[in-house]
Amino acid sequence: MNPYLDQARELLGRFYGYRDFRPAQAPVIESLLAGHDTLAIMPTGAGKSICFQIPALIFPGLTLVISPLISLMKDQVDALIEQGIPATYINSSLSLAESDARLSAIAQGRYKLVYVAPERLDTSYFQYILDKQSISMVAVDEAHCLSQWGHDFRPSYQQIAPFIAALPRRPLVSAFTATATPEVRADIVRLLGLQEPHIHVTGFDRPNLYFEVRRGENKKAFIERYLKSHPSNAGIIYAATRKDVDALYSLLSRKHFAVGRYHAGLSDEERAQAQDDFLYDNVQVIVATNAFGMGIDKSNVRFVIHYNMPKNIEAYYQEAGRAGRDGEPGECILLFSPQDTQTQKYLIDVSTEDEARKRHNLGRLQKMVDYCHTPECLRHFIIQYFGEKDAPSTCGNCGNCKAGLEEQDVTIDAQKVFSCVYRMRERFGLTLVAQVLKGSSDKRVLALHLDTLSTYGLMKERSLADIKLLIQRFVATDYLALTESKYPVLTLQPSAYAVLRGQAKVLQAVPKEVTKQAEMPELFEYLRALRKEIALRDHIPPYVVFSDATLKDMCAVLPKSREEMLLVKGIGEHKLQKYGEAFLACIAEHRPKD
Ligand code: ADP
Ligand code: ZN
Repeated sequence: MNPYLDQARELLGRFYGYRDFRPAQAPVIESLLAGHDTLAIMPTGAGKSICFQIPALIFPGLTLVISPLISLMKDQVDALIEQGIPATYINSSLSLAESDARLSAIAQGRYKLVYVAPERLDTSYFQYILDKQSISMVAVDEAHCLSQWGHDFRPSYQQIAPFIAALPRRPLVSAFTATATPEVRADIVRLLGLQEPHIHVTGFDRPNLYFEVRRGENKKAFIERYLKSHPSNAGIIYAATRKDVDALYSLLSRKHFAVGRYHAGLSDEERAQAQDDFLYDNVQVIVATNAFGMGIDKSNVRFVIHYNMPKNIEAYYQEAGRAGRDGEPGECILLFSPQDTQTQKYLIDVSTEDEARKRHNLGRLQKMVDYCHTPECLRHFIIQYFGEKDAPSTCGNCGNCKAGLEEQDVTIDAQKVFSCVYRMRERFGLTLVAQVLKGSSDKRVLALHLDTLSTYGLMKERSLADIKLLIQRFVATDYLALTESKYPVLTLQPSAYAVLRGQAKVLQAVPKEVTKQAEMPELFEYLRALRKEIALRDHIPPYVVFSDATLKDMCAVLPKSREEMLLVKGIGEHKLQKYGEAFLACIAEHRPKD
């Protein structure tokens, strides 16, 4: 046991109002307190920030936090100040006078945490401070921005290592990211010059998130229904193109939903406004392209709906993962249509990447398509994708598990499909195989004489869409594979041969339909309204006042005094001082009668 961990826990209670570290946080904090360079790979929402903030409070001197986005910086610093932690930031959004004022305050030792944009890392700029204050730690947030393999490479991150090297005394260096691929990990260690780093990888599961895929849905109608049945939930709807965003935004506005929109085609001002409206709960829902989100720290996002399928599972998990960062339930729903696959293929095709990289991207796209068709547990699929081999095979909290998976023997179907692929000599794509099974008289089928095969028309009683889904499920469950190329070809995997020889059965869990809805006590709405009022008054986003999780816990604890208020998750001493009375009064007035 590290003796400092008790002190860390005490600070956690005092400043953050949390009783204990999450299992993933303690080892990272211990490693830093023991003085090791540390790389922590934690999924979004796992609670990275606390891992460097608390050591920063314990270390003498200053911690510099390198963070890529200006908006994120301001939010994080606002939240720290709300908690009574002395923090500030330096970036290009400040006037010269303002940043000079901050620099001299830093030199006077007024702050423990200073957030800095990588562009500002210049020792001569910081010289003034360095003479008076030592830097104990440099914490690099979103460290995957260092790597060209990552999805968000930022050249300015290359300035971090030289900056550290030029410091009079080498500080402890910590790096944080949610991206787990081995290439990215190795790049971070190398490019930051981490010294004998301790590497901590947190499990990728986000148990509070519910996953669901809907195929063949009328997407617009679904979204309308969903928004109507979740009127007080904040959420993000991601669409693939600006055009889709605009269309959906107009539709929903016309129907009087409080929505905003965000995409790269809007002016800087419009985008900043949209982002603020969402952060400050002026609009509940934002319709956006994937340009939206990196700068969003909003913890009370209750759902993320994908209007289109994204390009790969990394991107999907990152975007969907913006739901439920406060640990409360979040819903991640993907609306799939076959057109989405075509769109993504097109985007890969016209990209400027080299051929090898394009093939790699097609492979990753195929996994995304597989996710949309797997009959098995969606969470299991994702976690396995990220390389956790021993993930439980069902979770009970995804569309497929919730549907009450019904095991069906689909051996006969499998034999029909596999033998058709075999007879077509593993040379054709999914559509053509489906057409042959359907017995289609499509031009290509006839031109290639595929109507002479014994498997032609073997499934003529089914719709083409059904046959395609069936095939896609066999791909998703690794009986079939699609080659990584522009025109992917269906091939048989070893497990398919055993089925063809009649040596193995194929059982598939087929989901049934479900609907579900969570209930919230009335008090929660009153607390939300109070939070919003305070946020407006103090010009901070509502979730910075208190998170949804904290409001929910208030409804459960129903505190009657300031002491009882401290039992609520997320209330530390500073926030108790600031808001305790107002919320106690609200609870006293609206507590449920029993
Ligand atoms: P990340 O940066 O990893 O996405 P954050 O640092 O924003 O995650 O934390 C996500 C949420 O979890 C925040 O609302 C934070 O207050 C909360 N949180 C962090 N640590 C704890 C803890 N030990 N107990 C309860 N909630 C926590
Ligand atoms: Zn599941």
